[in-house]
Amino acid sequence: MTTGIVYDDIYLEHDIGTQLQHQESHERLIAIMDFLKQQHLLEDPNFKIIKPRKATLDQIKYVHQERLIKEIQEICDLSAKTRRLQAIDMDTVASPKTYEASLFSTGGNLQAIDEILNNNIKNAFALVRPPGHHSNSHRFAGFCIFNNIAVAAEYLFREKGIKKIVIVDWDCHHGNGTQDIFYQGPKSDSGELVIFNSHQDGRTLYPGSGFIDEVGSGKGEGRIINYPMPPGSADDVIPIYFNEIIAPICDEFKPEFILISAGFDTHWTDYTNMNWTYQAPANYLKKIKSMAQKYANERILITLEGGYELDKQARGVYNCLKVLNNEDDNLILEESRSSRTELLEYFNYKLIPALKEKLKPYWECF
Ligand SMILES: [Zn+2]
Repeated sequence: MTTGIVYDDIYLEHDIGTQLQHQESHERLIAIMDFLKQQHLLEDPNFKIIKPRKATLDQIKYVHQERLIKEIQEICDLSAKTRRLQAIDMDTVASPKTYEASLFSTGGNLQAIDEILNNNIKNAFALVRPPGHHSNSHRFAGFCIFNNIAVAAEYLFREKGIKKIVIVDWDCHHGNGTQDIFYQGPKSDSGELVIFNSHQDGRTLYPGSGFIDEVGSGKGEGRIINYPMPPGSADDVIPIYFNEIIAPICDEFKPEFILISAGFDTHWTDYTNMNWTYQAPANYLKKIKSMAQKYANERILITLEGGYELDKQARGVYNCLKVLNNEDDNLILEESRSSRTELLEYFNYKLIPALKEKLKPYWECF
């Protein structure tokens, strides 16, 4: 049983400064790789480094307007010529090599999919940057360039014959780009997609979306599921979401492939306001893995999104890799944290019933 780790130094060349200059610094990936080395994980034959390839422009165009590809090329050319970082929006910045790194970031995910479907590896974690989940078809945003997970989903539909995909996005920020792209369902006619988002409540954090009444429209109606978590929510709110919403829908939908947008910025020390430990994402992944084992021939691809406390996100990634490789009991643990009683009551007696009510017209399980 082998777990793939997509990585290449090209991802450091999207060089927007140290972490003091920009939160989404290349230092994030250096910290992760250093930690994996320190734990001797990269010497373990159960893990295999996957070298990324570039996504083709046709593949990027599965979900992005052509204009956007030209825009990022021009911005990077300008950055090279002026030898200065170039701003794309308030918080998204490009360096000379950002465009190339972005093609490899998306392509690294596609390479992992090929290796999974060819049975070279069982599952994979793509340690890539720039991240993708805030970018939509017509706009780069929130540190993101190409939407890696959205291209990956369309690639599975269009080039790999996969018909049913589940995307789980557990980054602390709502995956608004991915939601926008698929709001009316997949671009490909042959595919069916369900997106489960969990994130800090949009009234308290960027990008300010991801409420329970955002359920999709047209053929995507009922296929977008948002779980906004108020500040202070800890590890204990995830089993509620999984048991009450995700598991019943997966049992009805039966996904053939599961894609995960993994952010580690839910950690209690991160600049956001969640109260998760660094084992929380891994415990969430265990549950998702049970669905992949049941329906998707264990096929899971995780792609990296946010996470800004360098050592915490490194431990979070390490724990998820252990779970991918079925070493569920070999996690690095910190002291457990829990949500306040009133908060748990809000989830159990308000949010979950309201969410089920919204989803009832689309799912027999409710
Ligand atoms: Zn985030």
